[in-house]
Amino acid sequence: MVVARPVQGKHRTIKNRINVVLLILFLVLPFLRFGGNPFVLLDIPGRKFHVFGLEIWPHEFYFLHLILIMSGLSLFFFTALLGRIWCGYGCPQTIFMDFYDWGAKLLVGSEYGKRPLNTSQKIRQYLAFFILAIFFSFIFLAYFVPYEEIASDLMHARFFAGPDTLAPAAWVVFMVMSVGFAVFNAGYFRENACKLVCPYGRFQTALLDTHSPIVSYDVKRGEPRREGKQKLFEHGGDCIDCNMCNLVCPTGIDIREGLQVGCIACGLCVDACTNVLSKFEKRTLIDYRTIEQVENPDAHRKYLRPRTVVYASLLLCFATAFVYLLVTRIPMYATVLRDRAISALYVPDIGYQNGYEVHVGNQSRKPIEVKIMVLDKRYEILAPQDTYKIGAEGFEKIRFVVRSAQKEEFARTRPIEFKIVDVNEPTHERVVQTVFSYPI
Ligand code: SF4
Ligand code: SF4
Repeated sequence: MVVARPVQGKHRTIKNRINVVLLILFLVLPFLRFGGNPFVLLDIPGRKFHVFGLEIWPHEFYFLHLILIMSGLSLFFFTALLGRIWCGYGCPQTIFMDFYDWGAKLLVGSEYGKRPLNTSQKIRQYLAFFILAIFFSFIFLAYFVPYEEIASDLMHARFFAGPDTLAPAAWVVFMVMSVGFAVFNAGYFRENACKLVCPYGRFQTALLDTHSPIVSYDVKRGEPRREGKQKLFEHGGDCIDCNMCNLVCPTGIDIREGLQVGCIACGLCVDACTNVLSKFEKRTLIDYRTIEQVENPDAHRKYLRPRTVVYASLLLCFATAFVYLLVTRIPMYATVLRDRAISALYVPDIGYQNGYEVHVGNQSRKPIEVKIMVLDKRYEILAPQDTYKIGAEGFEKIRFVVRSAQKEEFARTRPIEFKIVDVNEPTHERVVQTVFSYPI
């Protein structure tokens, strides 16, 4: 388990600012309501996802797919352009480890991260991890269960799945797993998540090219480094082998050994080396450079290159498709089922009849009134009502019979289409298809 030594500097300051902004977003987003609707809520039992105000219903999961594709492409684009910026500055693992360390430092004191802890300090360290894990897990839970429900369950001590069972409620199971995982991660696993588990680290390393910035050590200036008790700068290179770059590294790697998958490009070793060498009026040996700049320090960064152009173009295409789908979105959905009780009947003097059940959902936040029509003049709908009212975000099952006076020659079944129209917004319509059957 690596606990990095605290460091001050430009990159640490940038990281702190980003951490605070992202933490505030994490803490606030699940509590935001607009017009009574959640801004962000992944309601799995209700099969409705609220993503930044957009309400995604099960038949609209293509929105979610597009969001995931755009996130993936953004990762590709920004990695090619700016290196592993996501790992160093945006990844929740990196950010939460900073907050767990901040909490532990509060209870342990300034020695935290600087030297091995005694038993009492270790107990305080784990106590801090545990308290923060509970707090963060409650917030995380609010992304899946409305916070009003969590508060009500807590106030009424509803910890079980039902009144006559000792099985824990789903949210209690979630909390136990989340807290357990968080304490294990902060207290033991930590840097191994980046080094051994995270697939993004491997993807991102594969996505770098010779023009992507990486954190690297200047071997030409740094070596030969100081060895053992050698006097400062008796050695040929500028590296005084203070080991600070290694001690401040959250994944515990020595960047002087070259680019490694464990380097999350956080730049903290840059701060450490800058602080150390500035005392000797020397420039840092570790910095963000492209692989080309490592070979040739005078090389310029190329932002415009085939890889970045292709990623940006793809991103633009998907973003355009997303906006188009959003703008042309119809807040109503419909499906049709055949009513097995009235399938393929012949009634003398009336004709052939089939029964149907149309399910209409209103995704808007106001009631709507819909009318069902059949798109073929040979059929006639025999419905108990002309129009049907559906409440805000409601759902109706509408049953009706369709009559055909004549039998289709040689046909056992014929396709039939129904149009469901919002009476007050005629552009909001859905067409569903099924078949009309004739008795043998
Ligand atoms: S080597 Fe430097 S940039 Fe890479 S993870 Fe460690 S501290 Fe961050
Ligand atoms: S911080 Fe700089 S001087 Fe110190 S060991 Fe690392 S590279 Fe060498």
